[in-house]
Amino acid sequence: MSADCLFCRIVAREIPATVVHETERVLAFRDINPQAPVHVVVIPKEHHLDVSALAAADPALAGELLAAVAQVARAEGLEHGFRTVFNSGADGGQTVFHVHAHLLGGRGLAWPPG
Ligand code: AMP
Ligand code: ZN
Repeated sequence: MSADCLFCRIVAREIPATVVHETERVLAFRDINPQAPVHVVVIPKEHHLDVSALAAADPALAGELLAAVAQVARAEGLEHGFRTVFNSGADGGQTVFHVHAHLLGGRGLAWPPG
């Protein structure tokens, strides 16, 4: 737990979030500024900087994160498809430095995004 990390504070329930899925090691909650009808943020409860750090430190946890993405997609009714994004670093547009998958769906998503 990092006291100054927003997502660690959501894990600790110090900051409220709309949780849609939880396991022993993974948490999923609705993004506060949704970019699609379904926009869920999926995180490991343990603090890792980004997807590269997570994959290096704990590949099994990275797998659990992806399994949670798939489970939330199914629960949200995204059988026609969805997008999963890991923003990494400044050039990747990462603003919260606790690794997270964005799960986006519920409408056709153009690529590349506008
Ligand atoms: P990124 O820019 O990839 O680091 O994504 C961070 C995401 O966290 C953004 O999509 C924000 O809208 C989202 N976010 C920030 N604060 C909260 C919060 N308190 N609850 C839920 N989502 C949040
Ligand atoms: Zn954190």
